[in-house]
This record gives sequence, C-alpha cells and structure tokens, in this order.
Amino acid sequence: MAVIREGKVSIEMGEGVFYNPRMEMNRDLNVACLTCLPDVTTYVDAMAASGIRGIRVKKEVPREIDVTVNDWDAGAYELLKRNAEANGVTVNATNRGANTLLSSTQYDFVDIDPFGTPSPYIDAVCRSAKRFMGVTATDTAPLCGAHLRSGMRKYGAFPVKTEYYPEIGLRVLMGKVVREQAKYDRAVRPLLCHSTEHYVRLYLAVDHGVVPADRMLDQIGFILDCAKCHYRETIPGLAVQAPDRCPNCGGKARLAGPLWLGPLKDNGFVSQVLHVINTGEFGRKERAARLLELILGEIDVPTFYDHHRVCQDLKATPTTIEVLLETLRGAGYQASRTHFSGIGFRTDAPVNIVKSIVLALSPRS
Ligand SMILES: [Zn+2]
Repeated sequence: MAVIREGKVSIEMGEGVFYNPRMEMNRDLNVACLTCLPDVTTYVDAMAASGIRGIRVKKEVPREIDVTVNDWDAGAYELLKRNAEANGVTVNATNRGANTLLSSTQYDFVDIDPFGTPSPYIDAVCRSAKRFMGVTATDTAPLCGAHLRSGMRKYGAFPVKTEYYPEIGLRVLMGKVVREQAKYDRAVRPLLCHSTEHYVRLYLAVDHGVVPADRMLDQIGFILDCAKCHYRETIPGLAVQAPDRCPNCGGKARLAGPLWLGPLKDNGFVSQVLHVINTGEFGRKERAARLLELILGEIDVPTFYDHHRVCQDLKATPTTIEVLLETLRGAGYQASRTHFSGIGFRTDAPVNIVKSIVLALSPRS
C-alpha cells in the first residue's frame, strides 16, 4: 500500500484513490489560509478521498477546529478513517453524497476539491458555507473557452478563448459562484484566488444581506475583446449592449461572460498567508511564497497582456518585463506582473499607449 508524506501527515493511498503531488502547494496554501481565518471553528472537506486535506487542516492549523471529512465512496470512507487514526487526529468522518451532506449541515468553512468540475456542487456549497468557502476546479478547458459548449453548460457563461485564458477561467468560475450566492441574498468576497498549472482555486468570504449581494452583482459583467489589436473593455451588467466591432481598430469584437470583473484578492489577507508560509514548515514553501508575492504585487485591473504576443504582432523585440513595467509607471500608469503568466503584465494604460511603449523599447534592427 502506497504511503505518502506531505506536510505533517502520512497518508495511505487506497486502491483507486487519486493522489496528485502537484496539489501539494494547493494544500499547503489551504493550511496557511485556515490558519489566518480565526473565525473558523467548523470545516468540511466534502469530497475528501484519502482525507489528506482535512487531516492536514486538523493536524497543522495551530488552533482547535472541528473538521469533517466526507466521501460518498465506501472504500474512501474506510480509508480516510484509517488515515485520521494513523495520524492521531480526531475528525468527523462521514459517508454521504457531497450535495446531501452540504444540504443538511452548515459549516464555517466549506471546502470542495473535486477531480474535475465543481459546477454540480456550487449551489450546495453556497447553502452550507456560513462564513467562508474554498472551491477548486480542474476543468480548465471548459472554463477557459477551449471547450466552449461544455463551459456554457457548466458555468452558464460564454468563455472566449484569449491569450489571457487562465484569467478568463478564474473569472468565469467566480462569476458562477457569485450568481449562485446571490440567489440567497448573500455575497462572496475574494480573499485569495489563483490559477496554477491545471487548476483554479478560490478562497472566498461570505457576507450576508441584500446590500452586499447587490454590490457584488454590480461587479458581474462582460469583457469585450479584440484579437486583432488587443483592445479590451469591461462592460458591467447582465443585460449589456456591446458593439460588434472593436472601437479601437474596427476588427471583429468578441464578448466573454457573464463573469467577475472585481478584484481577485484581499491584500491584507494575502500578506497574512504569506507570513504563515514564510514562518512555517511547508513542502512547497518557496513556490507558495513566490506565488503569494506575485499576487500581492498585482494591480486590480482586469485582464493581463501577453508581452510576447504584443511584441510578435508589432514585430518588436521584447525587453525584460521589469523594464517595460518601469517605463509604463514612468509614463504615469499603473503596471504590474501577474501570477497567471511569467510573460504577462497588467496595466491601466490604454492599449495604444502600451504598444507605443513596447515599440519604443524595442531595439532598432
Ligand atoms: Zn481592435
């Protein structure tokens, strides 16, 4: 029987139970985030498989949390009970369907980490989560526009495939959660959201009431995108009027959404999580810290540019991103890197200014 070590736990992997080592950083961050949410006294991992997420929360968060680990599969249920015992922790082990469990019980923090799409569970997560929710999605193709029809069915949104597709995917998922919460006169507020390799992860705070729910809905809308000239425009609202043609170059414009146009993080929270990562013991400490530092530095301007794509279109030679960012800031604009892509950058400069700066920085050939 394969036993893996991760964080401060040893976990037996049962037959057919999937362990993804690439998710280790995701779970490191999960422990760090829970550490920074002192209001959480009850936590559930509704699709627990081996139980590793919840067992790590119980063992590694330096505070008493009532942890429930649930899996509908009988074999997984026996396995997660053995794993909790082997690690000397007491958890509530349950053997129910995720939607059934979440429909009958509320928890401070509801965590859903499915292999594939979280879409069929989001409504139940919204009903169960009293204060916070964590949502993972690994179906990046439907989220990002690579599988258009599947994305429309699962997320009720039209995700255009763009060069900033990981950001579209994250905003489409967030948009779906927002609309599911709004039904119940509740709002969600992003604490930390990231897209890493082939998954998207959201940590959200839940606010109750019509006022925060309406305020949240104001940040739902569409992104108008021109593939020809890189022009983008955000259009808030659910019933929007958008031009067919790009206002900048007259090319064909595409509309993605409805999706979330608001901020993707709370810098106060992200700083606290970074502190926990930097001062704690985590297997993917360096990677997690690097990710959080990038997120902290990101400006809240929707959609990043792909530096190489812009250069390619202009037949320009790329400088370093740092030089580009300094030049944009020197011209009076905000500019930052983005965690979504090593060659991506964000700025509030209009696209034509971006292009003229990229051209001016390119060495003459
Ligand atoms: Zn255009």
